[in-house]
Amino acid sequence: MSLSRRDVLKGAACTGLVLASGVNAQARDKTLPPAALGILYDATLCIGCQACMSGCKRANKLEPDPSGNESLWDNPTELSTKSLTVIKQYRQNETEDKAQTVKSGFIKRQCMHCVDPACVSACPVSAMQKDPATGIVTYNKKACIGCRYCQIACPYNVPTFEFDKPFPQIVKCQLCDHLLAKGDIAACCQVCPTGASLYGPVELLKEEAKRRLALPEGQVALFPANDIRTGRTVSHTTAEYQQHIYGEKELGGTQVLLLSSLPFAKLGLQDLPEESYAGVSENIQHTLYKGMILPMALLAGLLYFVKRNER
Ligand code: SF4
Ligand code: SF4
Ligand code: SF4
Repeated sequence: MSLSRRDVLKGAACTGLVLASGVNAQARDKTLPPAALGILYDATLCIGCQACMSGCKRANKLEPDPSGNESLWDNPTELSTKSLTVIKQYRQNETEDKAQTVKSGFIKRQCMHCVDPACVSACPVSAMQKDPATGIVTYNKKACIGCRYCQIACPYNVPTFEFDKPFPQIVKCQLCDHLLAKGDIAACCQVCPTGASLYGPVELLKEEAKRRLALPEGQVALFPANDIRTGRTVSHTTAEYQQHIYGEKELGGTQVLLLSSLPFAKLGLQDLPEESYAGVSENIQHTLYKGMILPMALLAGLLYFVKRNER
């Protein structure tokens, strides 16, 4: 698996931040919680209607975001403090591989709700937390000190910061946990007309993703829609899938899983290792502290400087 220089720098920055904060590393559970909830986004079913973006905005009471084109009311092109999810489009340009059969495609960006989240590990005051039951990664504005470690640590560039506010906060998707408390599902999945954004227990979503990868291309098949537990289905002609569930293994796994016909790199998703950045930093911490090597080295250094200054 290849890593770009940017990925390495990002990993190093995250590892450094987690090492520097060092607070949450010991309390981490690196396994998927048994009642983990998530989203399966299938780009082959997405028609780019952006109903999910509007639904998200309504459910989370967010202002319009004309950052992509100021003459339009709401036209975000990236995640922002006003947009917790965006649908982005890839179009093949003339210089790219002509033999590639799929020429364009959509991708939905949002918080991936990592199994072992770097943002949680990097936060020095536990303002980012992972729910032990559902695995949803939430943000507590009352605890946040505005250091933005979570923003720098996130390998998917998700958290955004309200630079324009006198009392700024971090903003990111919280899997509509306020709706979950009322028995509802994530707004983006509630309104998706094609079943491209599907909500439910992560284990069921993984099984469904594997079923789709095994379907023969070009056949009409039924796909669960909105919430995988309800039995509601829509029919589609099956596409040719990349044989990869993005998020199943990347950096320890994520609760938002992605399927696509296009290579994920074309959709802006990096090729990532299987071990989480938080796990890498924990290994370094354990190695440094094993046998008290680091404290002894620091003490020896300190004694050396004291002696030298005395002389
Ligand atoms: S995608 Fe980023 S913000 Fe979301 S849980 Fe993972 S590390 Fe945290
Ligand atoms: S889960 Fe909720 S907050 Fe997250 S992208 Fe979907 S609608 Fe927005
Ligand atoms: S609502 Fe569904 S089909 Fe429409 S853009 Fe969002 S994910 Fe794609």
